Amino acid sequence: MDTSFDFGGSTRILVTLNGNRLTGSVSPHVMAHASPIWNKFLFPPFKKLESSINIESNGSQSAGDREISRDSHLNVEPSEELDFSEDPAEALRLLLSIVHFKFNNIPVQLNLAHLWQVAMLCDQYDCVHLVKPWLSNWLATEDSAWQGAKAVQRENWLFVAWVFGRQKVFGELAQLLVLETSVNSSGKCSAQYSGAGYGPMPPDIIEGILRIRKKAIAGLLEITRKCCQEYITVLKPPPPSYMYSYQQQDRKKALCKHGHQGCDAISYGSLMGGLEAIGVKTSTTADLIEINVKQLAEKINGLTIHVYPPTNDGYKRVTHEACFTTNIKDEVAKVLSTVENPVLESHLRHLSTQATKLSHVS
Ligand SMILES: [Zn+2]
Repeated sequence: MDTSFDFGGSTRILVTLNGNRLTGSVSPHVMAHASPIWNKFLFPPFKKLESSINIESNGSQSAGDREISRDSHLNVEPSEELDFSEDPAEALRLLLSIVHFKFNNIPVQLNLAHLWQVAMLCDQYDCVHLVKPWLSNWLATEDSAWQGAKAVQRENWLFVAWVFGRQKVFGELAQLLVLETSVNSSGKCSAQYSGAGYGPMPPDIIEGILRIRKKAIAGLLEITRKCCQEYITVLKPPPPSYMYSYQQQDRKKALCKHGHQGCDAISYGSLMGGLEAIGVKTSTTADLIEINVKQLAEKINGLTIHVYPPTNDGYKRVTHEACFTTNIKDEVAKVLSTVENPVLESHLRHLSTQATKLSHVS
């Protein structure tokens, strides 16, 4: 494989490889046809305008030919240098190799890090169509790869799906990120931290993921808050003026199906103890939860609510299994089943556009 950046053209390029500054060369005309962005860099509109004016003043071109179009650069001197020193070098070499027909330089398979960098450049230079012949191989293990990926890698996969128009993967991954995204104490997720391995994300997707994550967490917290509130209401001592009817009132208000305040106290105590053990208070709001939705759901599902042991009411033996009426697991499942998907109409339109670019190479 040719590892140089010398593609044999008249425009010099600057590249940074492993921290070293290198120069290479590209053909400006093939570059201009490969990407509208490179076209602008190589043949800036003001150069085309100058050329057009010069031709007009020389009287050598008709009025119809003076239109400044993408192809009008044939009469224009291209820029002498393009600066790619901020771009990932290996991914850049791959795209430049495609543009200059050096197909031996194109790997059959790409790891995620490399694929992600190629996706970034395809997005940056609006040239996703270039990779069409190799994409199906590069994405051959896409499904198993993103499903088994760690947090940062999942965000990389989301961007790859965004650039390469993978609508199904994008939707499933975005939904998974809602359930499995944790935040730090400032409420930021890993995609919002700065550092190696993090890069561009599709617009508005992180905001959507965090908004829906917060809503789901609020829904989970509401399950236990509601349970606690019911007990607080009935266990609260009555005002002193009603003390004479304390026993009567208390029996009417108990949540226990058999009117035993002790049963309520045991249930409430085990509920509060369990919540304390998982770090949730009745006053905890969704903003304060750093773990992800799935982890919180698992912790709430793990709560054990105790009830009163069997009692004898007169001659009748009664059991209290049914006294705690909230089926926590059912309620948790209900919240999880109604979690929204953060994919917006604008995302779907972009994904469709990208997919079209990859299905009709012009
Ligand atoms: Zn009971």
